Amino acid sequence: MRPPQTLTLLAPLAGWSTPLDEAPDEVFAGRLLGDGVAIDPTEGTLHAPCDGEIVLLPATRHAVTLRAASGCEVLLHVGIDTVALGGEGFEAHVRQGAPVSAGDALLSFDLDLLARRAKSLLTPIIVTAESGCQIRRRSLDRAVAVGEWLMEIAAPTTASCAPDASGAAAATVAARRLKVGFAHGIHARPAALLAAALRTLAADVRVRARGREANARSTVALMALGVQHGEEIELRATGPDAHQAISALAAVFTTHGAATSPAPGRSAASPARKVQPSVDAPVPTPPGHLAGVVASPGLALGRAVQLRRPEIRVAETGVGVAQESAALDRARAEVRARLERRAHTADDAAGEITAAHLELLDDPELLAAARAAIATGGSAGFAWRSAVRGGAATLETLADERLRERVDDLLDLETQVLLALDGNAAGTLPQLPPQSIVIARELLPSQLIALDGARVAGIGMAAGGATSHAAILAAAMGIPALVALGPEVLAIADGTTLVLDAGRGVLEIEPGEARLTEARASVAAAAAKHAALSAAARRECRTADGARIEVLANIGSVAEAQAAVRNGAEGCGLLRTEFLFLDRQSPPSESEQSAEYQKIADVLGERPLTIRTLDAGGDKPIAYLPLPPEENPALGLRGVRTSLAWPELLRTQLRAVLAVRGPAECRLLLPMISDVGEIEAVRAVLAEAERELGQRVPMKLGVMIETPAAAVLAERIAALADFLSIGTNDLTQYTLAMDRGHPQLAARLDALHPAVLRLIARTAEGAAAHGRHAAVCGGLASEPLAAPLLIGLGVQELSAVPAVIPQLKARIAGVSLAECRALARRALDLPSAAAVRALAAAALAGPRGPQ
Ligand code: PEP
Ligand code: MG
Repeated sequence: MRPPQTLTLLAPLAGWSTPLDEAPDEVFAGRLLGDGVAIDPTEGTLHAPCDGEIVLLPATRHAVTLRAASGCEVLLHVGIDTVALGGEGFEAHVRQGAPVSAGDALLSFDLDLLARRAKSLLTPIIVTAESGCQIRRRSLDRAVAVGEWLMEIAAPTTASCAPDASGAAAATVAARRLKVGFAHGIHARPAALLAAALRTLAADVRVRARGREANARSTVALMALGVQHGEEIELRATGPDAHQAISALAAVFTTHGAATSPAPGRSAASPARKVQPSVDAPVPTPPGHLAGVVASPGLALGRAVQLRRPEIRVAETGVGVAQESAALDRARAEVRARLERRAHTADDAAGEITAAHLELLDDPELLAAARAAIATGGSAGFAWRSAVRGGAATLETLADERLRERVDDLLDLETQVLLALDGNAAGTLPQLPPQSIVIARELLPSQLIALDGARVAGIGMAAGGATSHAAILAAAMGIPALVALGPEVLAIADGTTLVLDAGRGVLEIEPGEARLTEARASVAAAAAKHAALSAAARRECRTADGARIEVLANIGSVAEAQAAVRNGAEGCGLLRTEFLFLDRQSPPSESEQSAEYQKIADVLGERPLTIRTLDAGGDKPIAYLPLPPEENPALGLRGVRTSLAWPELLRTQLRAVLAVRGPAECRLLLPMISDVGEIEAVRAVLAEAERELGQRVPMKLGVMIETPAAAVLAERIAALADFLSIGTNDLTQYTLAMDRGHPQLAARLDALHPAVLRLIARTAEGAAAHGRHAAVCGGLASEPLAAPLLIGLGVQELSAVPAVIPQLKARIAGVSLAECRALARRALDLPSAAAVRALAAAALAGPRGPQ
């Protein structure tokens, strides 16, 4: 007899997995139906735990039984005593008898309703006793995400249940599971970064999530997975460089994912916000007014200019496979050249969007679909259009609004390639009169980039979403924009006077003279405020009573250095150098590093530049360092520990930094220090490098305070270091023992926790004892609300994300040192982060806060 085949059941629900004994029902807890686990759900959709057939779906839709090909039967019973609801709150997505694949949605249920009406939400997942299958292993007492490994069962047949349990596994040479840290899941930018990371590698790499799989080189396929922040995914690579491929992808997830995830519930980095008219203050829409959704806030006054998308006709049939293929390649090459030129000159937002378009242009799945259509007789234009529309149709089915909005990017690219095929590379755009309010059904990002921004007062779109790339661009350009105004907006005649109120979410058509006067005054006041902020941003930062506080920027690229200077940063307080080390097969040479650092120094001019040594290892693995896999990477070989474990790497980096010329001061910063021995060890390597290069003035060496150990030892550390810089992101994670990427703990992971504040105070005291500067470069420094508190605790320098610097400086200029100290004293005695936040918010709303 063959040994029983092992089958995998994936979690059908997101939630907390717990023993069946917890179910408040004798039938389940007593295993009368079979063995299993119970999940306390946090989301209202039940998914298939494996491939199979729906063998039972009662009319009450509260439970489903699924039979796998092996004969194993799994009963999924949503909540306890939910049969009594008679189907209320449940919606079935499958029929009895239907075949399903692992991860398919089976049922949706109203979590709130069940919480109120059911005996318990605990959902038993039972391997029925009848089917004779046995549970071998199960995942208990932990949070599970949909599609995550839940149980291993021994089935009586050889068929496989989970998609990854097949013989294909034998060919797999590398695999890794990880959690997605990108704030908005795998949307366009992360997908583009992942695809780009594989460009020099040959392996076939698949990303698995929610029971489905995508080619990791295809941004469209990756986005179509619909993976959200905090979900677990699996990477699988086959091929000669499979291990490098996995490391390269893991590095993208950990570096970019971790660095860009704001804690939910706080302000996100994205400028586009969806501000629906609030329920408390309903927006009246009298005749002549259209209600919309705010995509970029502000008020604009001007005249309507309708912008229509070019109508492009394409012949369905081609003239021959070779000619059509060549025509498509030529058109793509033309568009690529234009996008590359733009990527080099554009600023942050436009540059990122252009980079995403470049990635889509070479998407292997889109190209394969287009080539297949050409091979069956289609013209290049027809083939490209159908390939793009196919990808767009998949994205349109996703629940995630951000991903659905990427359809715009695909359609934009469709237009650009079709125009190039048509011999009209740039398309035709109208000459805009000054103070134009541009109206469109949906503005393409490329159309907006090509417009003269100085003449666009506002944007109104009939459709579109607040997180579309056109909306993000509008916000980055400071242009007020409304989306979802409805088709009526397209009937407005060119030249009509409009007031676009992207505060209340209303477009006013031909308003009366009184309203126009009022709007003109508001626009002028907003312009004056903007000018005042910009002026404050250019000035040296001081509190209201003259205490000097330096406001610098955190940067990780040349583009961010440019943004820092534009926003009035007085220098760079943290250059994250990981961008140079990740996504490659060998470390950057000394000359390559110094050239990159020099580019950033050149942008900063004479402003100080603080270069942090490589903060890699652990959860930011580097393909060319043979780091062992770690149980708990956050507590492993990372930061300065990695540098000291590979002293040649450190030495090369230090020599590269020593070669930088130009800034008034170029200083070094060491990440993840936990004892003074590490500083001494780096100092020794630095002194050696200085001797080798004949450096006369020793370089300043700062220490990041990111571990509670370093904060407690701040006074000792300050005796050895030239300055201290507090990394509140890590300091908070280690102080509160909460993973900084943990989705369920995100709301509690607050750097304003009194325990963290006490460590900041202790650090500042330690620095002061040796006449050293105490800076903050973690995320807390980017919250204007927190600035007075940090200053009151003794911090003299803040290093923040570039965009927030004007508000930060204005906030600091609005408070005195005495007020800051009083605030800090009160905060240290408060019981919770929430109480501290409330105190800081009240201070912000007080008479001296910015208006
Ligand atoms: C921090 O931990 O606060 C910090 C600035 O470092 P990183 O976010 O790069 O880990
Ligand atoms: Mg850190």
